[in-house]
Amino acid sequence: MFEEQKSPAQSASSLGEFKLIDELTKSFEIQQKSSVKGIGDDAAILEPAHEQILISTDLLIEGVHFNLGYMPLKHLGYKAVTVNLSDICAMNAIPTQITLGIAVSNRFTLEALKEFYAGVETACKAYGVDLVGGDTTSSTKGMMISVTAIGSVEKGKACRRDGAKEGDLIVVSGDLGAAYLGFQILERERKVFEVNEQHQPDLDLYAYLVERQLKPEARKDVVELLKQLEVNPSSMIDISDGLASEIKHLCKESALGCKIYEDKIPIDPTVVRTAEEFKLDPSLCALSGGEDYELLFSIPQEDYPKIKANPNLSVIGHFTGPNTGCYLVGRDDSMAEITAQGWDSFRE
Ligand code: ADP
Ligand code: MG
Repeated sequence: MFEEQKSPAQSASSLGEFKLIDELTKSFEIQQKSSVKGIGDDAAILEPAHEQILISTDLLIEGVHFNLGYMPLKHLGYKAVTVNLSDICAMNAIPTQITLGIAVSNRFTLEALKEFYAGVETACKAYGVDLVGGDTTSSTKGMMISVTAIGSVEKGKACRRDGAKEGDLIVVSGDLGAAYLGFQILERERKVFEVNEQHQPDLDLYAYLVERQLKPEARKDVVELLKQLEVNPSSMIDISDGLASEIKHLCKESALGCKIYEDKIPIDPTVVRTAEEFKLDPSLCALSGGEDYELLFSIPQEDYPKIKANPNLSVIGHFTGPNTGCYLVGRDDSMAEITAQGWDSFRE
């Protein structure tokens, strides 16, 4: 994951706002042609070519969305960016710029904020995105982060939630359930550490799960892959709250039902093994876990040959007609209605 950096502590508030902004952002470089003016004026200036522009904002609050007890600040900076870029990718668009607002209490040192910005910078570099502005202020308690992501897409190519058609195949990228189990592992280690501060967590066995929780990626590569394969999805969403909740959004917005096949849901072997350890159903982790930030989308059946050989993409079901309901077909052919929490089990 990330390497640690160490240098002496200095309080962020002792620096003054302008000096602080400069300290935090001076190493960032502009990568996009459309960023005409970034940080340093009253507003940024963007000049996109002929595309449509997409904008999305997320707010992250300490204690609600993240816990600094086990979230290193550098990872938090990285994740704050990637989860927002994921929303742009979920429209079949390419992220181009972000702005970042941050409020911190005086317990944060300049060093700590630099760590956070190092994670932001790593994500910006990895995704070719420019930090073009933001705001910096103090808070009475804890840390608050607001990221606005901007992206662009060729006119007519944006994928909305409401575009699926009856019979379209439902496809998911990557694998599901790992980020949720990564969270369970970190929580378990935190509780052990509370009673025994000498405890050194051995996370090697769970490295994939912890990385998926602490360092999620936006599937910009999948957006590029679909373009290359000449597949234009009819609907798309990113999986932040779990497959069950997201598929219901697509069904509701597209006014359709669906069938998802449990045995088609892509699940990593580490997820299966660790779910068993926690006495959890791996399918339930995939359906309700959340924070995987994979893309869930639909394609017309005639596009199936274009994607079928791709190891990054799994067809997990199809859309059915209006008012037919959302169902999970179990490994034993049982049918259970999908609820936002997972599914209403008719089976024992
Ligand atoms: P104003 O008083 O006009 O709001 P600021 O002093 O807040 O100006 O910001 C000065 C410049 O620094 C602006 O370009 C702003 O977008 C940028 N900026 C402020 N805070 C941040 C931050 N946390 N991250 C990135 N850019 C920032
Ligand atoms: Mg300001």
